Amino acid sequence: MTKPSVGFLGLGAMGLPMAKHLIQSGYPLHITCNRSRSPVDALVALGATEHSSAKEVAKHSTFIVTILPTDKEMEEVLLAPSFIRSITPGTTLIEMTSGSPSVMKRIAEAYLASGIPVLDAPVSGGTVGAEKGKLTVMAAGDPSTLDHCQSLLSCFAATIHYVGSIGAGKGIKAINQMMAAVHMLAVSEAAVLAEQLDIEPHMLREVIMSSSGASWMLENKLEALLQENYIPGFKLSLMRKDIQIAAGEGKTVDLPLSNFALALYQQAESTYGNLDFAAISQYLSERGT
Ligand code: NDP
Repeated sequence: MTKPSVGFLGLGAMGLPMAKHLIQSGYPLHITCNRSRSPVDALVALGATEHSSAKEVAKHSTFIVTILPTDKEMEEVLLAPSFIRSITPGTTLIEMTSGSPSVMKRIAEAYLASGIPVLDAPVSGGTVGAEKGKLTVMAAGDPSTLDHCQSLLSCFAATIHYVGSIGAGKGIKAINQMMAAVHMLAVSEAAVLAEQLDIEPHMLREVIMSSSGASWMLENKLEALLQENYIPGFKLSLMRKDIQIAAGEGKTVDLPLSNFALALYQQAESTYGNLDFAAISQYLSERGT
């Protein structure tokens, strides 16, 4: 059976491997060039169709998948009236950016008013998860919309959680990021302290991964941090944006750790913003000298 056509906007570190999985699963893929040619060329070589604009992509799509950097791009692309008018009836928007719940709700309001179903569906699992097709999706919206999107999402996701109404996907993703940012700081400090105490870093990982201080960050990021390998991955500037979403949503509650983490990532951003967020350890070590 012919698969429905998918318009994919946001062909970056995450979007490119996700889009490749869709093509490899037989979905006709429609794309456009924003600034960078290389992901567009790579996808066209695999069979994607390139269009002159996002509006043209929308016209040719039965699903539109977006994974853009921040709220700003989500608003610019998805709330442009001419873009919404280009969407054909029956098309579903799957919005996968790590954005804020409030912007997601505004977008969903505009789309649902135009009869376009929306899934709020950020992801976790990093570029490795995207390349392996093993992402975790935090899906929110009407359960029937998720049912409609399941087959498509399964092309690049191993786990799909239904988390509630529109905004809940972005909300739980922001909570995950706030925790991940704090865990990264904890791993950075653990490495410094281990060195001070003459504890071999691989011993640190082995022992603590089977103890109560274990974390995904310790397991997956200690090596990069020790080798000072900060090729993104996930840019520090995007991590700052995510903690800011969490801190902003939590303005009326006390989140001292999140706010302290936000201040540290903000201070590091001007120098390390385009490097992997593990570079926060570099910032901490320079700050301490
Ligand atoms: P990147 O910066 O690598 O990619 C962003 C992509 O968006 C680029 O292809 C860029 O194109 C494109 N883009 C920017 N503005 C527009 C626009 N106006 N119209 C169309 N395309 C546009 O980011 P990531 O892929 O790393 O992250 C994307 C989202 O996923 C973020 O919200 C991030 O927080 C989240 N995320 C990232 C993870 C990671 O490990 N990297 C893990 C989980 C979630 P161009 O370069 O041509 O401007």
